[in-house]
Amino acid sequence: MQTTPRVLVVSDLHLDREPGLTLARFLEFLEGPAREASALYILGDLFEYWIGDDAHFPGAETLAAALARLPIPVTFQHGNRDFLLGPDYAQRADMALAPEILRIEVDGGPALLMHGDSLCTADIDYQQFRTMVRAPAWQQAFLTRPLPERIAAAERLRAGSRDAGKMKPSEIMDAHPDAIADVLRTHGLSLLVHGHTHRPAIHHLQVDGRPCLRCVLPSWDELPGYLSLDDQGPRLLTLDGGPYPVGFSLAPPDPPAPASRAG
Ligand code: MN
Repeated sequence: MQTTPRVLVVSDLHLDREPGLTLARFLEFLEGPAREASALYILGDLFEYWIGDDAHFPGAETLAAALARLPIPVTFQHGNRDFLLGPDYAQRADMALAPEILRIEVDGGPALLMHGDSLCTADIDYQQFRTMVRAPAWQQAFLTRPLPERIAAAERLRAGSRDAGKMKPSEIMDAHPDAIADVLRTHGLSLLVHGHTHRPAIHHLQVDGRPCLRCVLPSWDELPGYLSLDDQGPRLLTLDGGPYPVGFSLAPPDPPAPASRAG
């Protein structure tokens, strides 16, 4: 049977230092659907945190070996948790490190890939933090600290972001409509794929009158799944290949019914 090239996209696996259930499921995914695909893109937060490529955590090294064995190209974008993942680990996993915003060509047309945290522009505290930790000087200083100190800092940050998340209204933690429109407008594309918000869905929207799609990837902590991109267009799938149940809608929403005066 002739199949069209199929690109798979995942994010937000939040893998722990030790091998666990999510890693086991991802390894099955790599042995299953990923082997049939033409390329795999990982849009960040592959790991719950990353403190440097010199920390050889068992879960991460098991994964690196599995990714390196995969016969298709793998590309990684940084998330807000694993933004320190560097070229050494990328080499161990035989994956390419991509810039923050990546344009790819797929059979259904070009797509724009990003983690998604930069779209949450209403979360001012987070954006300030992001600017700080993405600065090369901050990263260099952090990476030269002793390993136990880095682990302690990452654990503190993780607890802090959980607490902050509970205090903030849910709209603030979501991708902002203006930021979404901006990125699609700037790149002149009509398909955006991102993760981060843990609100899996395929949204239809208009940017300057142009119909666009925004695909939001699922978190593997909740219900694991992935995006499939081929000539059938984007589809959110569960690991058994069935349609992903949350917020899934390929059909554009019905236009509002005209007000009826009959009756
Ligand atoms: Mn994230």
